Amino acid sequence: MPMAPFMERFPEVGARETRSVTVTNRQDLPDGEYGFLEFYCNEPGCDCRRVMIDVLRPETGWSKIWATISYGWESLDFYRKWGGTASDPIETKGPYLDPLNPQSKYSPALLNLFRFLLQSPDYVERLKGHYQMFRDSLAGC
Ligand SMILES: [Zn+2]
Repeated sequence: MPMAPFMERFPEVGARETRSVTVTNRQDLPDGEYGFLEFYCNEPGCDCRRVMIDVLRPETGWSKIWATISYGWESLDFYRKWGGTASDPIETKGPYLDPLNPQSKYSPALLNLFRFLLQSPDYVERLKGHYQMFRDSLAGC
């Protein structure tokens, strides 16, 4: 399924509401800022209810992908019904490191950091809201 950056369609909201984390003194990650950029599916009529996250850093010009994380906020049952037998519902729900997209040796640590962010209900609600905004913006296409 085609994934497109939220930031491209909503530059202002994206700049304001994209989650980033500043890391200091961790054993498993270099110090500095990590941005969790959201990508959503732009396939017309699709209802996949998931986000793909590219972890990027200003230190590497916002271009090197440090990890690619896939995450769905609905229940396992939802993805089981939605995906049929074609996809693994546990992988669709995630969060997991997407094997088809770029990763780095820091990916497992960044997945842990993302899991930590998900403990905040506000963040999960924000992702859902962004998905809805993104999907609504496709309606006229
Ligand atoms: Zn989709």
